Amino acid sequence: MAAHDSEDIEASVHLSWMRRAMQMAEEALAAQEVPVGCVFVRGGRAIAEARNRTNELRNATRHAELEAIDYILSNKDLTPEVTEYPLSDTTLYVTVEPCIMCSSALRQMGIKEVFFGCENDRFGGCGSVLGVNESLPHPKHPAYKATSGYCREEAILILRRFYITENSNAPMPKSKTNRVLKTEIKPRKGSHLSS
Ligand SMILES: [Zn+2]
Repeated sequence: MAAHDSEDIEASVHLSWMRRAMQMAEEALAAQEVPVGCVFVRGGRAIAEARNRTNELRNATRHAELEAIDYILSNKDLTPEVTEYPLSDTTLYVTVEPCIMCSSALRQMGIKEVFFGCENDRFGGCGSVLGVNESLPHPKHPAYKATSGYCREEAILILRRFYITENSNAPMPKSKTNRVLKTEIKPRKGSHLSS
């Protein structure tokens, strides 16, 4: 098999996991949460999927990634014993770049690798604001690779759909009442994936 064929197959696998993460983002949107979804994959199967629950639980730390991590750690089949790096054979697919908090948690858990859809320009911890995943040195926890670009446009559009309708039950400033959904998406600088 030619090298580029196996790369294509690999990319389509990443894309299909990211589509599953996007379904969780859709679920978040339907529940009036910031639409971010994720799936954790181990040995070729999804072991946990989650979405943001910050509004529902009134807890700003309840990001999709931490929800899934809590599930994995509390499940005896998935985490039979306490180990230093319980996610060392687990890959994360998440629709938006993990924030600084989640990026740090993932590193402390020894996550194998991360794939994300769109960058998080305000809070991103995998390169956009801080390189918590690998460029920041850590005396102990291993660095992990984070790759962007899978379902990037879908991930951006669903965030826009949320922010255009949010606070519909709160007084809305006049300037926001006639907002329309922008569908044009600027390519990320240095992006190597077109999707
Ligand atoms: Zn987060």
